[in-house]
Amino acid sequence: MKRVAVFGGTFDPVHNGHLSIGRKLIELFELDLFVFIPAFHAPHKPDRKPTSAYHRFAMLAIATREDEKITISTLELDQAKPRYSVETIPELKSIYADTKLFFVIGADSWQDIRTWKHWEEVLMMTNHIVVSRPGYEVEVEHVTESIRGRIIDLRGVRSGFRQHEKEEDSIYFTDAVFFDTSATDLREDLSDGKLDRKDDIPDEVAKYIEKYDLY
Ligand code: ATP
Repeated sequence: MKRVAVFGGTFDPVHNGHLSIGRKLIELFELDLFVFIPAFHAPHKPDRKPTSAYHRFAMLAIATREDEKITISTLELDQAKPRYSVETIPELKSIYADTKLFFVIGADSWQDIRTWKHWEEVLMMTNHIVVSRPGYEVEVEHVTESIRGRIIDLRGVRSGFRQHEKEEDSIYFTDAVFFDTSATDLREDLSDGKLDRKDDIPDEVAKYIEKYDLY
């Protein structure tokens, strides 16, 4: 059975935190494919209008052009309307039929999970991977008992992930990626004209941002 992880977000812009998540999870979870799914407009972040989808897609494409196992889905962009995970997961399950599917989120999203539409249902629909993020705790008190029962905590584990996997859909916690950056901080730096965080964004993406004067 194929093993595919999907990773939704605004990617405004994509940064090395996102990319290291993709690359590391491919290795640890022995994935055949890692799919970035840029959102048309993150439904839970209505306050800020994201950069044009064309630019966000282009930056992802530039950043991942040499990663054979990483691809970008236009599923959400094509529909050109805000989508909730509770709607996209069933679509992804039919696109990736006969596949073990993992839905990836960062620790900040896990912390806010109760604000997601039908969050419990979302967490029951497929496998999830929750990735640690500096500045955010990965706690379990805010989720229900039945969700807690699905958690497989792989924090501290650095190899042999498949040995810990279950047949049934589960929620995996990992701290094997721990990258301190955020798109918000990067946009602020970029708009101030000082990108000190050269390690946080691929060079080619930084050049693209400059060329099109994005932030
Ligand atoms: P912003 O600062 O604009 O909110 P972001 O850096 O969090 O952006 P998004 O595109 O909103 O990036 O994130 C998509 C997904 O990536 C979310 O699930 C988020 O939790 C996760 N994520 C982003 N950066 C990191 C990071 N450094 N470590 C772990 N997860 C991350």
